[in-house]
Formats: sequence, C-alpha cells, structure tokens
Amino acid sequence: MIADCVVVGGGPAGATAAADLAATGARVMLLDRGGRIKPCGGAIPPRLIADFAIPDRLLVGRAVAARMVAPSAAAVDMAVDRGGDGFVGMVDRGPFDEWLRTRAAGAGAERRTGSFERIERDDAGWAVVVYRDAEGTERRLPTRAVIGADGARSRVAASAMPGVAPPPQVFAYHEIVETPPGFDRTRCDVFYQGALSPDFYGWVFPHGDTVSVGVGSARKGFALRAAVDRLRAESGLAAAPVVRREGAPIPLKPRKRWDNGRDTLLIGDAAGVVAPASGEGIYYAMASGREAAGAMAALLATGDARALAGARTRFMRAHGRVFWILGVMQHFWYRDDRRRERFVAMCDDRDVQRLIWPAYMNKRIVYAAPLAYLRIFMKDMRHLVQTA
Ligand SMILES: Cc1cc2nc3c(=O)[nH]c(=O)nc-3n(C[C@H](O)[C@H](O)[C@H](O)COP(=O)(O)OP(=O)(O)OC[C@H]3O[C@@H](n4cnc5c(N)ncnc54)[C@H](O)[C@@H]3O)c2cc1C
Repeated sequence: MIADCVVVGGGPAGATAAADLAATGARVMLLDRGGRIKPCGGAIPPRLIADFAIPDRLLVGRAVAARMVAPSAAAVDMAVDRGGDGFVGMVDRGPFDEWLRTRAAGAGAERRTGSFERIERDDAGWAVVVYRDAEGTERRLPTRAVIGADGARSRVAASAMPGVAPPPQVFAYHEIVETPPGFDRTRCDVFYQGALSPDFYGWVFPHGDTVSVGVGSARKGFALRAAVDRLRAESGLAAAPVVRREGAPIPLKPRKRWDNGRDTLLIGDAAGVVAPASGEGIYYAMASGREAAGAMAALLATGDARALAGARTRFMRAHGRVFWILGVMQHFWYRDDRRRERFVAMCDDRDVQRLIWPAYMNKRIVYAAPLAYLRIFMKDMRHLVQTA
C-alpha cells in the first residue's frame, strides 16, 4: 500500500511533522536511521515546552541565570526571567528525540529504522523512498509525498533538489562531562572570545549530572578541540570525566526554497532553519515541522503541490524578522575581540535584556516599549562608532 507521506529523519523536525500529520489521519511512515544521539547543547525556551507539550520529566536542567563572558574575561550576569518566564530548559537529546518519535507513533505514524539512500520514481510518477534497513537490505517505500527532516547533511535535499547548494554552516563540537561537586547547575555561560571561537561562541550548559561544553566555528582549520580544552580549564571542568565527545554542522541560513514544486518538502536543519548568532535550532525545527504537516495535509487533500510552499511562507512570516536581526547582530558583533567586548558590555543594559529575553523565551519581539528601542538604537550606534 502506498504511504501518504514518508518523513525521513526522526529528530525534532521530523518527529513533530510525523506526529501532526498522522493526527490528521494521513498514512505516515517515520524513517530514522537510529543508533546515534544528535550532538547538541540541548537548550530549549519555554515557548517550545508550551507549544509542543514537553513533559517536565524530560528537563534535566533549568537555567535561571546566564553569564556572558567577554574577551577580557569581564562577565555580565543576567537573570533569564527578564522576559517573565522563569528558566531555559535543558534536554538530553537521546531521551528527548526518542520521546518525540514515540509520540509520533502514538499519533499513528509507522516507524521504520533504516538509512535513507535516494528517491526514485515508479511508472506512475510516485516517489519511492529507497533505504537500507539495519541488516543492510535495500527496502522501498512508495509514497505520495516526502518530508526531508534528515538534518544539516540532508540526503533527501541532495536527491530531490540536485544542484542546489546547501546553506553555509558552522561546525560545532562539544564534550559532555560529569558535573563536578559544587558546580552551579542553574547557570548557562556563553563565551564571546576570539580564542574560543573566531566567528561564533563557546558555551557551558548545565544538564543536571552532566555539562555540555562546546564551541562552534565556520573557519576551516580552527582547532575546536583545543578551544574546548581551554574552555573547560576556564570553567573549572578540566578534570571532569568525559562522557562523550562529538560534533556536527549547524546550518546558518534558511534555504530559499524548501520544496521541489512536486511532492518533497525540507524542514529543520535540512531546510537551514537555525537562528543565526545563537545557533538555536530545536524550536525552529519543531515549528517548521508543524508548518510542514499543515502544508502536506493541504497537498494530500487537494493534490495541489503549490500548498507545499506555504510551510516556508508561514514560518518566515513568524520568524524571519528575528532571523534577520540575529544575522545582522552576528555580522557586526562577532567580528573581532574589540566588538565582542562591546557586545558583552551592551548586554549589561536593562533595555537590551528586555529585548533579548522575550525574543528568546517567547519567540516574540516586544513592540510595547518604543522608547526603549530608541534608547537601544542610540546606544548601539554609540558602541559601533566607538568600535570602528
Ligand atoms: C554541537 C551542537 C550544539 C547545539 N546546541 C543547541 C542548543 O543548545 N539548542 C538548540 O536549540 N539547538 C542547538 N543545536 C542545533 C540543533 O541541534 C539542531 O538545529 C536540531 O537538532 C535540528 O533538528 P532536525 O530534526 O532538523 O535535525 P536533527 O536533529 O539533526 O535530526 C535529523 C534526524 O535525521 C536522521 N537521519 C539523518 N540522516 C538520515 C538518513 N540518511 N536516513 C535516515 N535518517 C537519517 C538522524 O538520525 C536524526 O534523527 C546544536 C547543534 C550542534 C551541532
């Protein structure tokens, strides 16, 4: 029997799309290769927890404070509840992703374990998803449509949209270490130092009994491991036993098109939807998965492939402005250590914090305080002029 939709990739994007689409009554297959935990800092905002009904027990940590560290080691401490919402949640991606996939199965999606290889066409023109199962046997799934949620190195994108270059990427590497006694489990640290990352940042995120210590950079040849060694030493984690070492690319820009104009739609990292400057991708992966389910349901109901483009349009309408602001921010402030120093100093400003936290926590830009924006703009310009 032909499936309505094969979702390739069971991370936050694919599992969300599969759950939402299966809930409409569509026959959905969720294909994931399994066996590997996604390398990730695991920080999620309250908006994600609320919108996607994430149970408390999946939160292994709650950060109520954030420390921004400048190149000079000057630090700015912020309470994260400036936006009014309490804490940044921390999830471990192994159990988190498996819970999302189980929820998708509960909604009616059929799970398959295997590695996607390519999309072929049958005589009638339907897509056939070709994958290899755990025993290495080639299997085929005929389907009316495909959602590509297979991450930054998407093979679905390469198969369905050949010749389209993938988005630019940062490579991120982190080490998960055991939390030493006395370590603050309630604060996230973010390091803006050229020595740790010449074009992105370093982080120390508390995950209860473990800590994620990582850095990212798009610069080829930058020694990420040495940077993490340095960050661990700076954070009092040099001697903490290592649980895992791992890395993965983070796309930096949404693709211009998510669909092939026929029957295939990309979401999450495969579509490039990670916020610039912060590298936050879990919420956006899930939000794009939700939009994809709506667009796919419309395609299945009407047969009109133009419905697929609606996923990107609605997503960018909701988040495009924040992506743009963060892109500009990264461009200006992550350039050199003088600018980073100024950027961290700016974060000490109450107006800036009142802008940052609601944008992160609730994915909303607060327009209620136009005078505060004017003040931020003036301060921003002053900092820029001093930095030039
Ligand atoms: C080191 C690091 C730290 C990060 N920290 C944060 C953070 O703190 N907060 C945050 O919000 N974001 C963070 N991100 C970004 C975030 O991890 C991603 O944006 C998010 O996971 C994207 O979700 P996704 O479902 O699109 O893709 P993924 O999570 O990559 O999921 C893709 C899925 O597809 C499956 N798959 C891949 N290829 C195939 C195939 N050929 N066949 C079958 N299945 C396949 C994989 O098994 C996986 O389950 C971080 C990223 C990195 C690399």
